[in-house]
Amino acid sequence: MTTRVWDYLGEYAKEKDDILNAVETVFNSGQLVLGASVQGFEAEFAAYHGLPFATGVDNGTNAIKLGLEAIGVGPGDEVITVSNTAAPTVVAIVGAGATPVFVDVRDEDFLMDTDQVAAAITPRTKAIVPVHLYGQCVDMAPLERLAAEHGLKILEDCAQSHGARQHGRMAGTMSDVAAFSFYPTKVLGAYGDGGAVVTADETVHQNLRKLRYYGMEKVYYVVQSPGHNSRLDELQAEILRRKLRRLDEYIDGRNRVARRYEQYLGDLDGLRLPVTNPGNTHVYYVYVVRHPARDAIIEALHAHDISLNISYPWPVHTMSGFAHFGWRTGSLPVTERLAGEIFSLPMYPSLSEAEQDHVIESVRTVVGSL
Ligand SMILES: *Cc1c(COP(=O)(O)O)cnc(C)c1O
Repeated sequence: MTTRVWDYLGEYAKEKDDILNAVETVFNSGQLVLGASVQGFEAEFAAYHGLPFATGVDNGTNAIKLGLEAIGVGPGDEVITVSNTAAPTVVAIVGAGATPVFVDVRDEDFLMDTDQVAAAITPRTKAIVPVHLYGQCVDMAPLERLAAEHGLKILEDCAQSHGARQHGRMAGTMSDVAAFSFYPTKVLGAYGDGGAVVTADETVHQNLRKLRYYGMEKVYYVVQSPGHNSRLDELQAEILRRKLRRLDEYIDGRNRVARRYEQYLGDLDGLRLPVTNPGNTHVYYVYVVRHPARDAIIEALHAHDISLNISYPWPVHTMSGFAHFGWRTGSLPVTERLAGEIFSLPMYPSLSEAEQDHVIESVRTVVGSL
């Protein structure tokens, strides 16, 4: 049997009663859209972060887009982010009508190089979107200082970092507004699409309520500024409520898998394992390793029935869909080099030790014989 880079079936087998009970609860509730489950999930997700407000939305991409719109980002504005991210980060910025401006990432941890942000600020800059990539947070203190100095907003892209901490602060609590995805593979994953936006700012929160609901004021059902239909579904919300109670267990499970990779692959020549920065906890959305002979390794591992993933093989700024923003190949050297060397080993809490041992032995054989 092929060992997949991600799988939910083992988890489903364990949690089946709870998940199916969630489905029944919603179907018996008498309200299928924006009912008790969305409300309950929003309250519990906000409380998990120690924040007053959370808004459930239809996916993580729209969580970023609505989050940006809610803090006033629109056409003519520039938003500073990274190219070393999932394309939806940038799709959402463009969807809000803004222009993405890229800075490079750091070679050690693949995260936004915050030293490059000051030079990217122009009179049109409105916001910074740090991406807490792979499961740990970007250094927020320098960004918070720059934002205060230049009057900029910050939106954290937390799609890969549910529950991650930095010096005790949780991902999503270190900015004006933060966006989460509950795409099934994520650390907190739904059984379909879902997303959420959290904030401590009541005005931003009120904007989000309207933006996800056609732009309508709930009281008078009047649209003053057209929004979107971006509601979180009741069914996904109820499943997410159940899974939120186990989020810390999922994070522990992912760390257990990471510790075993460190223990058994840490000595391999040329294979670089992920590092956790001082002050950070890591939630290991993906386990990204690096080797100059990446393509040969992946091909050889296929013969061992292991399917791997690359997050991400093409830097966003080199994609044709963003060519009109004028970013040339060569402009972000670290991002471009990484794209040719990184790959992800299987990582999910229900990965068994036997499956992981098979991955470890295969990687040792393949990398050892290069
Ligand atoms: C998954 C992801 C998104 C998009 O979330 P969807 O729910 O798939 O729309 C955005 N940003 C990052 C960094 C992601 O990993």
